[in-house]
Amino acid sequence: MGIQCAPMSLQSKPQVVIIGAGPAGMMLAYQLVTNDVPVRVLERHPDFEREFRGELIQPAALGALETLGLLPKLVERKIASPDIERRLFVGESRRVMVPGGKERGALISQAGFLQYLHELCGRHPHYQLDFGTAALQTIRENGRVVALKTRREGTEGRIDGDIFVDCSGRNSGLRKDVGLEVEATQLPADVVWLRFDFSDAPQALPEGVDVHMFGRGVVAVFFPTTRSRLQVAYSAPGDLGSLRKNIPELRRRLLPTVPSKLRPLVEAKLDEHTETQFLRVVVDRLERWHVPGLLFLGDAAHTMSPSGGQGLNLAIRDSVVAANHMLDALHAGQPIDEQVFQKIEAERRTEADMIQGMQTRVHRMVMAPMFVEHIMFTLLGAVLRLSKKASQGGQGAARVEPRYVVPVP
Ligand SMILES: Cc1cc2nc3c(=O)[nH]c(=O)nc-3n(C[C@H](O)[C@H](O)[C@H](O)COP(=O)(O)OP(=O)(O)OC[C@H]3O[C@@H](n4cnc5c(N)ncnc54)[C@H](O)[C@@H]3O)c2cc1C
Repeated sequence: MGIQCAPMSLQSKPQVVIIGAGPAGMMLAYQLVTNDVPVRVLERHPDFEREFRGELIQPAALGALETLGLLPKLVERKIASPDIERRLFVGESRRVMVPGGKERGALISQAGFLQYLHELCGRHPHYQLDFGTAALQTIRENGRVVALKTRREGTEGRIDGDIFVDCSGRNSGLRKDVGLEVEATQLPADVVWLRFDFSDAPQALPEGVDVHMFGRGVVAVFFPTTRSRLQVAYSAPGDLGSLRKNIPELRRRLLPTVPSKLRPLVEAKLDEHTETQFLRVVVDRLERWHVPGLLFLGDAAHTMSPSGGQGLNLAIRDSVVAANHMLDALHAGQPIDEQVFQKIEAERRTEADMIQGMQTRVHRMVMAPMFVEHIMFTLLGAVLRLSKKASQGGQGAARVEPRYVVPVP
């Protein structure tokens, strides 16, 4: 359990500037702001509405949300649906064990989640979120990041701060700007996301997150999302970008992967008006997560593949560890400096590396023919059960608990 602390009264409060109002950025903002640290968040989009994003929260991150008192509120507001299981099938119906072990997580609306955190932060005068503001590059003095060059409505500006945290997700431009090396792993398959309105047949929606693997890199994922919609991720080798615009070809390839209960409905609904998005699958990591004055978290530090629904999970867990160490330092009257950043990276890097390693192995396994895939996943399940590592995927490699908990009003 986290420590229930009264909000801190800090004599010298550094201004923390967070780039990106995604899960990593908003969760960090929430924990700092509720502990009386001034935070300014910059978000390049005009709001939290995002097309397709991670919606599965694994048990490992749910625990932190529970400790912070956020989970019951999210459930009460119908932003999160708890007790959701991710199930893995070879073909339509041969069930195999999830490599990370049995997971019961939650599906969450990212937009609803981020909006709720923004509302809670907005109760504090020392919180500011600038929508429509993009960070372009860092401004450094004596080797330390002291400000950002920004753009808002076509006008360039400068935003100063004491500490900068880049939570701007995959392809963060600031990585290159500060000269950090990125190590990337090439993956053989990309993803087309689709969303269908199932308000006329909500009973047909899957109960959890169902992953079907068809060999040679073809994987299709089905899960319910907000407003009685079905979300589908279709992944296969080759150029999937063009599939979005070629509906006959998309139908030819997708429909055989849809479970028979859903297939007639998807077949009837799939047309040029279907919401779709193409995602280039990337797994990469920074050689180091920080430079003087600037820390990277979430996908900006380690871009995750959608495999295993881990991106959101890691982003939330990064933010909890970052808040713990930053608040520890402030409580001890210490600056939030490179040593603090180093502690954050040291605590999080092993898990990010381990889960990326698992994602890369799973991507290789799904490239095999279907019968080999079946054997490999069955064996992997047995080995993990024996080695008792089965809980790592869903539970995280290490315990992550918020240390500074302020009751949610
Ligand atoms: C299409 C898609 C589907 C996905 N599906 C899943 C899934 O099912 N399960 C799962 O766990 N993960 C999934 N992911 C990954 C998951 O969404 C991310 O790993 C997770 O959101 C990472 O959180 P983050 O806060 O680090 O970054 P993000 O969520 O990417 O947030 C970054 C924020 O920074 C903003 N930003 C970017 N650049 C700038 C800038 N220069 N200045 C200001 N703001 C900026 C962006 O607009 C965004 O709001 C998916 C990702 C995508 C793209």
